[in-house]
Formats: sequence, C-alpha cells, structure tokens
Amino acid sequence: MTTTENDTSAVAGQASGISPRPVVDRLPRYAAGKPPVAIEGLESYKLSSNENPFPPLPSVLEAIAAHPNVNRYPDPLATALRTELASFLDVPAEDIVTGGGSLGALNQLLATFAGQREDGTQDEVIYPWRSFEAYPISVGLSGARSVQVPLLADGRHDLDAMAAAVTDRTRMVLLCTPNNPTGPVLSTDEVEGFLAKVPSDVIVVIDEAYEDFVRDPDAVNGVEIYRRHQNAVVLRTFSKGAGLAGLRVGYSISHPHLTQYLRVTAVPFAVSQIAEQAAIASLKHHGELVERIQALVAERTRVVEGLQALGWSIPQAEGNFVWLDLGENTPEFAVLAEQQALAVRAFGTEGMRVTIGEEEANSRFLALCATYTKGPRVS
Ligand SMILES: *Cc1c(COP(=O)(O)O)cnc(C)c1O
Repeated sequence: MTTTENDTSAVAGQASGISPRPVVDRLPRYAAGKPPVAIEGLESYKLSSNENPFPPLPSVLEAIAAHPNVNRYPDPLATALRTELASFLDVPAEDIVTGGGSLGALNQLLATFAGQREDGTQDEVIYPWRSFEAYPISVGLSGARSVQVPLLADGRHDLDAMAAAVTDRTRMVLLCTPNNPTGPVLSTDEVEGFLAKVPSDVIVVIDEAYEDFVRDPDAVNGVEIYRRHQNAVVLRTFSKGAGLAGLRVGYSISHPHLTQYLRVTAVPFAVSQIAEQAAIASLKHHGELVERIQALVAERTRVVEGLQALGWSIPQAEGNFVWLDLGENTPEFAVLAEQQALAVRAFGTEGMRVTIGEEEANSRFLALCATYTKGPRVS
C-alpha cells in the first residue's frame, strides 16, 4: 500500500522529469500493518504488525525519562548496550553490531556484502518466500538479485531447494526462524545440515526476530550456530519480545572478519540514546519481560488449540502470530475481521497473519473463526 505522501512525491517526480534508480520502480511497496477501523461499541485491536500488546516496563519508561539530553548525539558504537548484551549472551562485545531495528542491521549486512559488482553483475541473495516482506525491498535496494525459494506446503523453509539454488554469485542466504508470516522454526539439525552444504564464503543470516517466543526444544539457537560457524550471522531485535518496536533497536552478531567491514558501512548514530537505554533496561529486567512473553505464549497456545478444535489446520506457530492459509478466501475473511474491529494482515489471495494480542482481541478472533465455515481444513 502506498501512502498518500509517497503518491504525491511520485507524481511530483514525474512532473519534474526526475526518476529514481530503475530498481526503485520495481520494488514491492512495504505494506505496514493497518490500524483497526473504528466500529461502534467495539474496542479496536491491532493484530497486523506482530507488536507486543503490553506497555513498556516501568523500568524502561524510567530509563527513557532519565535521558533527556537529546541535544547530544548518541554513542555511535552503542558501547553500553553492546557491553550489556555481551554478558547477557556470553559473546564478545566486538561481535555485536547495533542497528536501527534488526532491519537496520540487515540493511547494513546487505550494503556491506551484497550488491552489484564493478562489472555490472549482480550478487544473489537467497531467501524463502513467502517470508518477511522487507526482504525483497532491502535486497533490491542493495543492488543484489533476490532468489526466492518457495516454502513447503506446511510453511517451512525448503532447505534442500535453497541449498540447490546457491551459485557462484550467491553472497548471502537469509533464514527466518520462526518464519514471518507462517510461523514454523528451523531445527538445529536442519540449520547445521544446511551450513554443511553451503560454501563457507556464503554468509548465512539467521533472522531471529521472534526468538523470545520460541518453545520448540528442537528449535535452532542462532547464537550457538554463530559460535560454531565463521559465516553465520544472527539478527535479533528488541521490537517484538521486548516490545520496543517504536524505538528501533536491533543488532547482528558475527565474527570479527565480518564486523570489521560492518563497522565501515554502519549508519552513524542509528541507535538513539533513548533506544539504547531502554534496551539496557529491558536486559536488566529480563525476568519481567519473560513473564509477559510467557503470557503471550500461553495466549498463542489458546488460539492454536481453539483453531484446531474448529478443525482448522495451521502451521507450527512459534512466533507471536498465527498463519491462516485461506487462499482465495483471504480478502473475504479480512473484511469480516475488520467488521469486528480487528486489524489483521492479509496477503493477497495467499493467506492471513494474525498477531497474538490482548486476551480480549484473541477471544474475539477465535469467536469470529467459529462463525466462519471456509477456514483452512486439514486435507
Ligand atoms: C519484525 C521483524 C524484523 C525486524 O524488526 P525491527 O523492528 O527492524 O527490529 C526482522 N525480521 C523479521 C522476520 C521480522 O518479522
């Protein structure tokens, strides 16, 4: 969905004869989660952006209030946060590179390692599809070519096909676990098996934006993979589990032979001092966050079991969202959700992602599903 603002600037650009780089016209438009529509007598809920429904922790609000000197630039290296993360994760602080959200960290990786070569040839970046909507935009903007490998029918990565797609132009592979928007995780064995097949000069990025919500004991832990593999990079964020989406702070973890280049391409001051302090407070009060995350996981279980009780088939849900494989019924169901003042994320005629939100929102969603006869059935 293009915003009105974008529409205006596109028109203004045409009028002046100014055109963007060719790739910009070919990029899909990022569709941010829509706000819910107001329905008389119903409280509205936003279940369209995988946000954490809990307000910030009191200690996070205190940390924000305690740092009012925004007339100063932040520490460009976010040293305090990286030091705190280093002991939290037991990794060297040097191996952590912060960014404006993990999306900022991903863009930095792409800007550093993938793009167009001097001779005009394009590097290739392989990722599963459907996956995080920002991937095609970020890869396209980098100048590299997207190689999208379709998911398996159950919403999992087709790792065999992804390994087979590697060519001598492949610079990077993105793994998304749990996969947004479908929900399944990759297991440790799967990722190790994949890494064994991929040349060691191909960077394998493990995007763990939803890591806090994972409860599958076989699920991969990206940090353990990074410890064992020089070409593995982990992406994590404070946006989802820690609920700091509005502050934009995330990071990558990788070895010094990669971080030496990442530090060259870093967007200066990408993490504000307030975001840095809020992230530190979140780490210091991790126990309180875990309780909230556990409450969301319990709600996820309730929603999944509720859908299963209706005979609906949904992929493994290890993030803070569920995927409904509604196919051509997707737009119709999106309208029904809207009438219930629930904003959800519909992907064309493919399916729908619904974030686990407030208890009342989840209950209303389940009640709506119970009235709908065309849900995704076990076939
Ligand atoms: C939300 C999300 C991110 C990043 O979000 P930031 O707010 O930029 O940290 C990254 N990857 C996936 C798969 C996501 O869903």
